[in-house]
Amino acid sequence: MRYRLETPEPFRPETMQEKIDSTHGLHPSDRYLKPGRIPHIWCPGCGLGIALSAFVKSLDAAAVPIDRCTVVSGIGCTGRAAGYLDLDTYHTTHGRAIPFATGLKLARPELEVVVFSGDGDLFAIGGNHLIHGARRNMDLTVICVNNFNYGMTGGQAGPTTHRSARTTTTPYGNCEYPFNLAHLAYASGAVYVARWTTFHARYLIESLKRCFSKRGFKFVEVIAPCPTGYGRPNKLGSGLDQMKFYRDNSIISHHVPPTDEAMGLKGPLIIGEFVDREKPTFGERYREEVLSRFEDPD
Ligand code: SF4
Repeated sequence: MRYRLETPEPFRPETMQEKIDSTHGLHPSDRYLKPGRIPHIWCPGCGLGIALSAFVKSLDAAAVPIDRCTVVSGIGCTGRAAGYLDLDTYHTTHGRAIPFATGLKLARPELEVVVFSGDGDLFAIGGNHLIHGARRNMDLTVICVNNFNYGMTGGQAGPTTHRSARTTTTPYGNCEYPFNLAHLAYASGAVYVARWTTFHARYLIESLKRCFSKRGFKFVEVIAPCPTGYGRPNKLGSGLDQMKFYRDNSIISHHVPPTDEAMGLKGPLIIGEFVDREKPTFGERYREEVLSRFEDPD
């Protein structure tokens, strides 16, 4: 059978408000979402809706102007978030969200630039960019939704997959050591590092508010259920079962060094606000140490 793609409706600014009024207004967060893009593609029980909702609530709570906030995402289920947000957003190539965001921040330093992506995108193909973004202390907020596998492409093992976990590429169990993302971000130079689960949405909102009040490379890990790609082969139950697991197995430990706070498949989960420190950003140092010499060579 052959399918014919429908010709998209041409964009007409004069009808946009009408469209927003007819599709928005049912929920307080609707104004952050693109009209006509919901329902989303995420599976029932997926944690991504909670992560996205916490993000838009944090924008509201921190009164970040919509026209000053830009979201950059990479590839994968998490990367789809950029397509649902009614902000300036970029759905970039695999692993390249941080370089796109870096260029954007350098060109438009007044913008609040947020990277919203997943563990595979940010720490596998994009791992190099992440550590160098943190090393430079680029003024970015990086939200990494960690569901421990490549969900969109069929549940393959990735850089955070737990030891012994079953995935489509590790049917007898994963023999690799996973990254501890909080530790890696901290060791690379991030000025703010926190880890929450999707059960801890209110803490997550507070963490993101803190990010919007702070300059430098801020990293927030959000542990989220992927019942389809990871929950099923590992017998973790439904998305709701995993939320109960987060509730019962999380230990909030603020300001502990994230060095040893790795997680096992069956817990415990050490979560909290681990790092909050001050350091000049790349932009500040560049202006003070490079541009000032260029303007005044003597
Ligand atoms: Fe969510 Fe996993 Fe489904 Fe992707 S595959 S939408 S991460 S549950």
